[in-house]
Amino acid sequence: MVTICCVCNKTKTDYGWQDKNISNDELHSHGYCPKCAEKALEEIRLHRRETVLTSM
Ligand SMILES: [Zn+2]
Repeated sequence: MVTICCVCNKTKTDYGWQDKNISNDELHSHGYCPKCAEKALEEIRLHRRETVLTSM
């Protein structure tokens, strides 16, 4: 089972996250690589702040 970043499509390997094509037969799940996870978290934080501000 391999994990593919759903943002930049990098694949998690034993050597880290790399640009790598996997065959469709391979079992894979979508997730975030550390870089994109950080970005996504940042966006969630910003969004939350906006939500808080607009609700006041
Ligand atoms: Zn990524």
